[in-house]
Amino acid sequence: MSHVQKIGLNLMENGQPIDLYVLTSKNGLSAKILTYGATLVELQVPDRFGEFNDILLGFDTLDGFLTNDPYFGVIVGRVANRIARGKFTLDGKEYRLSINDGPNHLHGGLKGFSKVVWRAEPIPEKDGVGVGLSYFSADGEEGYPGGLSVRVVYVLTDDNELRIDYAAKTDKPTPVNLSNHAYFNLAGAENADILDHELLLVADRFTPVDDALNLTGEIMPVEGTPLDFRTPTAIGSRILQIPSSLGGYDHNFVLNNDCGKLAMAARVYDSSTGRVMEILSTEPGVQFYSSNFLDGSIKGKKGIFYRKHHGFCLETQHFPDSVNHTNFPSTILRPGKTYAQTTIHRFSVK
Ligand code: BGC
Repeated sequence: MSHVQKIGLNLMENGQPIDLYVLTSKNGLSAKILTYGATLVELQVPDRFGEFNDILLGFDTLDGFLTNDPYFGVIVGRVANRIARGKFTLDGKEYRLSINDGPNHLHGGLKGFSKVVWRAEPIPEKDGVGVGLSYFSADGEEGYPGGLSVRVVYVLTDDNELRIDYAAKTDKPTPVNLSNHAYFNLAGAENADILDHELLLVADRFTPVDDALNLTGEIMPVEGTPLDFRTPTAIGSRILQIPSSLGGYDHNFVLNNDCGKLAMAARVYDSSTGRVMEILSTEPGVQFYSSNFLDGSIKGKKGIFYRKHHGFCLETQHFPDSVNHTNFPSTILRPGKTYAQTTIHRFSVK
């Protein structure tokens, strides 16, 4: 039987208790979600022999998640990824955001949505088990205009899927671009690196970045570049062709879908365990990040130090820095409208 369990962690952050929710599906898959950062802490899925393993990078202790500089498993927002120089103009007014990544604003700023406690409650689902998390981001928080009510629902379905539904409403026009920042290693989080994982991305185009990871504003074909993942290709096979200033893949891919309609975005396969993860999303883009900044200094689960390329992120979202590029799909949410996105991680073996 599928079930959800709440574990109080006896720890408060700004007067709010932090809890851990454990979702278990009828097939035995399980997900742990922490109310701090609405963080996906652990995800146990079977390999081709039916052996379960945790495929997410993270920490064994809550303390680890309270700092969590790499953003392991968190919800990033109000706007995921970088906003160049932390500024943008909306309806003729310039806004300045908190700066937390060189000269830029990254993943919502100093705390964003990843270093705050969310309210949570279990959700009865007919096709699985879920937890709903809510957060109210005040007008002016991190420099953003408008009070924003955000809701994220994690559901573990009986069809071996982890579904994440996002919704938000605002009282003033504001940019919104939410994503989950899980680092996966389908061989199991303790295994070396993801360079042998085969990746397929349903993307004919990508948005190039400069040496400082800021978007140039162009939209270019992947054809003839090391970013062509239109057929399954090992992540490591061309990674050294990426300029060394980036250290690996850290790019937004333009998905070949109709924005707003759930469609296949990516598939990843690990031949050592047979695990396959398919990602379906309503979003127009996916940020593929090959954990280039992990440098062996962070001690993660089971005492393992995470090194470069230990995991991969596939963050479904609108394009980074959309507020400064009018040719990108808009991330502006206006009062009376609802922001919505759904992403499904579907697990199988081969
Ligand atoms: C970004 C990277 C960044 C990382 C932070 C990714 O989403 O694309 O540039 O360093 O998040 O953990």
